[in-house]
Amino acid sequence: MHGHSSLSAATYDVVIVGAGIVGAACAHECVRQGLRSAIVDGDVAGGGATAAGMGHIVVMDDSEAQFALTRYSQQLWQELSSSLPSDVEYESCGTIWVAADEDEMLEVRRKQDYYSTRGVPAVVLDTEELERLEPNLRKGMAGGLLVPEDVVLYPPCAARFLLEQAQAGGARVHLGVPVSRIGQGRVGLGNGSEFTSAAVVNATGASAPALTPGVDIKKRKGHLVITDRYPGFVRHQLVELGYRMSARSATGDSVAFNVQPRKTGQILIGSSRQYGAEHKEVDTAVLLRMMSRAQAYMPGLAQTSTVRVWTGFRATTSDKLPLIGPWPADPTVYLATGHEGLGITTSLATARLLVDQIAGRESVIPVAPYLPSRTASREHTHV
Ligand SMILES: Cc1cc2nc3c(=O)[nH]c(=O)nc-3n(C[C@H](O)[C@H](O)[C@H](O)COP(=O)(O)OP(=O)(O)OC[C@H]3O[C@@H](n4cnc5c(N)ncnc54)[C@H](O)[C@@H]3O)c2cc1C
Repeated sequence: MHGHSSLSAATYDVVIVGAGIVGAACAHECVRQGLRSAIVDGDVAGGGATAAGMGHIVVMDDSEAQFALTRYSQQLWQELSSSLPSDVEYESCGTIWVAADEDEMLEVRRKQDYYSTRGVPAVVLDTEELERLEPNLRKGMAGGLLVPEDVVLYPPCAARFLLEQAQAGGARVHLGVPVSRIGQGRVGLGNGSEFTSAAVVNATGASAPALTPGVDIKKRKGHLVITDRYPGFVRHQLVELGYRMSARSATGDSVAFNVQPRKTGQILIGSSRQYGAEHKEVDTAVLLRMMSRAQAYMPGLAQTSTVRVWTGFRATTSDKLPLIGPWPADPTVYLATGHEGLGITTSLATARLLVDQIAGRESVIPVAPYLPSRTASREHTHV
């Protein structure tokens, strides 16, 4: 990887700012498409939200557009899975959406119908089947929905792998180099030098408005906890059905039961959502709420020991869909941000959709729902 010394006034087809999983996936895709590209990060690769994320590669159904992007991307991860090194910890454990009561079973059935009519295998579980598959869940839950094709992976190593592949294919990688401005086909670096590029991709996650003022992104803080090693304690990614409501709520703090088995035997426990929290410090009140929610679903978690707690910032848009494509105010600037709690899942599809647009090609799924111009036109109608 290159430091300051190798920077010169170079010209590229595409310069990507931000080497989180989204920027790394974009660099990987640019190289695959034969574009001369560079990727620049002010810090290390994968140190932002990517290092904080859970790594659940999950198909979601809040909207048709969210479904299309998550499913497409999950299939791209599956295609890539045989080339991933073991430290990416790609595990086909599946998700179980846990229904606490009969009301939530209605949602299980709706979701099963939605997925199966769109070709995603999904199996309804009754109380006994759920207890057999996940013996450490609280007894007497109504059931759940098993989605076997969902997987988990370790995001920082996945980002590093994509970046190394891009670099091996000819992309220039500049880490520890903050970008101070982008626009008009130029990338101004903090050290005063500049790149020129036909396209500049803002993939700086929750920091995107600093380089592209006016972009519709808000920070949404999240907490995660990881335990010591308890192999077999949790076998699938377990998510309460109420998670959907927590993720969708447009205001207020929320917590939801969301636990993941790691390959190491550790249990990753989530998750919380907060707007307006600008600092990375652990918020004890939110952490306690999150842990008591987790223990209400898995009482045995109260006996596990925690080895680390951390926070990260999701980049949220007002319609809960990412921004992928040209920024209307400057067609040399492309956005690849706003992935909220799904950027690990949707990174590979984002890269495909973005590079298709740069190259002027049709994409496998319609790009319209993700175009930044949708928010620009919404603002327009509000004037
Ligand atoms: C608690 C939590 C749990 C999550 N769980 C999941 C999950 O299970 N599944 C899932 O799919 N997603 C999950 N996510 C979401 C996921 O982590 C993010 O959507 C994803 O990591 C976003 O990646 P990114 O590359 O856009 O941003 P980031 O990883 O934040 O990368 C942005 C990069 O830009 C760099 N940068 C910023 N400003 C500049 C600048 N001026 N110059 C140069 N570089 C700059 C930063 O240093 C950083 O490396 C979770 C997020 C959180 C917080």
